Amino acid sequence: MIQSTLFDSERMRLPDALELTAVSLRAYGEKYDHWVIAFSGGKDSSALVTAVVFLILTLRIKAPKSLTVLYADTRMELPPLHATAMALLAELRLRGVHTQIVLPEMDKRFMVYLLGRGVPPPSNTFRWCTGQIKITPMMAAIEDLRQKHGQKFLVLTGVRIGESAARDARIAVSCGKNNSECGQGWFQEAKSDAVADTLAPLLHWRLCHVWDWLTRLVPDELDHGFPTALIAKVYGQDEDLETHARTGCVGCNLASRDLALEAIIKREEWKYLHPLTELRPLYAALKLPSNRLRKDGTESRKDGSLVANPCRMGPLTFEARLWGLNRVLDIQARAGVDLINAEEEARIRDLIAAETWPQGWDGTEPLASVPFDNVNADGSIQPVMRELLTT
Ligand code: SF4
Repeated sequence: MIQSTLFDSERMRLPDALELTAVSLRAYGEKYDHWVIAFSGGKDSSALVTAVVFLILTLRIKAPKSLTVLYADTRMELPPLHATAMALLAELRLRGVHTQIVLPEMDKRFMVYLLGRGVPPPSNTFRWCTGQIKITPMMAAIEDLRQKHGQKFLVLTGVRIGESAARDARIAVSCGKNNSECGQGWFQEAKSDAVADTLAPLLHWRLCHVWDWLTRLVPDELDHGFPTALIAKVYGQDEDLETHARTGCVGCNLASRDLALEAIIKREEWKYLHPLTELRPLYAALKLPSNRLRKDGTESRKDGSLVANPCRMGPLTFEARLWGLNRVLDIQARAGVDLINAEEEARIRDLIAAETWPQGWDGTEPLASVPFDNVNADGSIQPVMRELLTT
């Protein structure tokens, strides 16, 4: 329960927050002919896209010459959020808004990169995913629009300051902490070139504004009519629970727990997604030495010196990739979702058949589970205690 304070009456209410959004769009937005909204399907960007379209359609702000909603489909979204995003996009199109779904390149998609190219699951020390499945595709789409429009345009993002300056610093760099979204802050930083300028018109919205807006707990004249209530449900807001979800990949290997998935499968309507909880254990299994190659201790830099970790572990073996592919296909069949579609499966099998290795590896490296004498960066050798390994 939140205790009232003397200052509650001074807090900004949702209608005022929406008006301030309109003011910022009038002040900055009208300088640009073309606007683009980077939409991820998460709560903040859903609030953003619906608020902006609502303000335009109710003539509270002037419409730009064009408005494009770019949806970054990572192929790994939490299924109910992805479904809601699709419904929202359909409704936007009905209201005359141009929408575009942005996908990562086939070979850069999460499952294709993992199981086809054999790059091990991302981790906090090897985070290959955010850039290639979220940021790069969105940046490429924005560059394309720049070419098409022939002028710099405005990108609107759902970044919010919220109530805590300390939290904001974390939002800028974090991966899905504090209700932010993986890649959100990075994307903001990545657009500092001349392709587009960025505006975050919900910067001042508090979390309660976002929920009230999405659940349409608003005066009639502010009811946007978009199908956003399900988003709040996915986040647990309809039961007045503490927000448990964040938008990110289902089974994200960088989070300590997949709280969003754990929460939604407790609900009757999403119980069928339970097999998706097997993804994180699957990633853990793929990272085992028995499923990977390692360098043999001779890897060196251009100047001839040894690299920092001459015996580092690397890619997945073909057997591990095929095993992983079959496990994911089984999981998705039981969960009734689409993690790997037919095209992606064919590409994964092609890459394996072509004996594809990630850059810097050629498959001649030893299996990481075979005992070896560890080579340190200074060239010193730490003999393996074979007798311990055999006991
Ligand atoms: S949510 Fe996790 S798996 Fe997805 S891009 Fe971010 S860090 Fe990677």
